[in-house]
Amino acid sequence: MVAPLKLGVSYYGNRIPWRVKEDLQVIRDAGCTYVVHTLSEEDLEFYEGAMAEIVRLSHELGLEVWLDPWGVGQAFGGETYSSLIAKHLPLRQVNSLGESLPIACPNQEGFREYLLKWIQAARKCGADLLFWDEPHFMIYPEPLGENKEPKLWACRCGACEKRFKNLQGSQLPERLTDPVRAFKEECLVEFTRWLCDETKRAGLKTGVCLLPFESSSTVNDWAKVVRIPSLDLFGTDPYWRPHQPDAAAHVARFARRVKELCDEFKKEPQLWILNFNIPKGEESAIPAAIEAAYREGIRNFAAWSYYGASYIKLRAEDPDAVWTTLSACYQDLMKRKS
Ligand SMILES: [Zn+2]
Repeated sequence: MVAPLKLGVSYYGNRIPWRVKEDLQVIRDAGCTYVVHTLSEEDLEFYEGAMAEIVRLSHELGLEVWLDPWGVGQAFGGETYSSLIAKHLPLRQVNSLGESLPIACPNQEGFREYLLKWIQAARKCGADLLFWDEPHFMIYPEPLGENKEPKLWACRCGACEKRFKNLQGSQLPERLTDPVRAFKEECLVEFTRWLCDETKRAGLKTGVCLLPFESSSTVNDWAKVVRIPSLDLFGTDPYWRPHQPDAAAHVARFARRVKELCDEFKKEPQLWILNFNIPKGEESAIPAAIEAAYREGIRNFAAWSYYGASYIKLRAEDPDAVWTTLSACYQDLMKRKS
C-alpha cells in the first residue's frame, strides 16, 4: 500500500498571529498538509497565547501542526538562544577538561522537568505531533581513523558520572573510550525513548529526526531509535552544501536508510529538504532531491524553512525562486497517483 503524501514546511520568527495567518495561507496554497512551528524557550516565556492562536489558525486552514523544541537547552536543533542554561548552571554539560558548556545535559533531571513543562505547553497549544529534532550531546570535531581521539568530548557532568557508575560499576573514564561512546549513545537513546513516552502520555503523536552524520554526540545506530515503541515517525535532514554535485544522490542514500529502517519497524519515514543556504541558480537541486527520495519510497517531506528562509542570515540567495520551486514540486507530487 502506498502511504499518503504528506508535505510540510517549518515556520518561525513571527509571533503576530494575524500576520502569521497570511503566511499560513501561502503555505497551504503551496500544497502543504502540515506546518512545523518552532516552540522555543522564548515562546514558552512570552508567546504561549500567541502560539496557541497560531496553532488554531493553522488547524483552521486544514494544516496538521507539529511543534519543535527549537534550541531548547541547546540540546536540540536550532540556533535560537536558551535562557535555561544561563539561569540554571547545574543543568549544563561538562566537557573532558571539566569546563561547563552552554548546552543542557539529557541526563540532568532538571532538564527533563523543564521538558515535561514544554510538552504540557505544546499540548495546551493544540499540537498534533511533537517533533524531537536532533537530540545531541555537545558536538566537537572528531578526527577519523583508528586510534584518533577527539581533543574534547562531553558530557562529564555529575549526572553522567553517576549514571555511568550505576551501569558499568566503574568511574567514567577521562578519555573517549569505546565504552564511553556506547554509554553516550545509550544515554541519547534512553532520552529519546523517554521523550516519546512522555509525548504519548500527553496524547500526541511522536516524531524524531537524527543528525545525518556519525559522531559520538548523536545516535549512530538509528535502529535503536526507530524501534522505540512510542515513536510514530522517523527521519533525518541530509542537507547538501552549495555547489555539491551529488546532492540528489546524497539525499537518496539517506532516504533509503530511513525507508528501510521504518519499514522494518513499521514507522512512518520522513525527510527534510534543504530550503536555506542555496546559491542563486541552484534551486533545481530541490526537485532533484525530492524526486530521488520519492523514488526510494519517501512520501513525507518537509522543507526547512518557509520561503527559502528569506528572513535569516543563512537564507537562500534567491528565496523567491526557492519557494516557487518548492511549491511547484509539491503541486506536482499532489497530482501523482502513486
Ligand atoms: Zn551530563
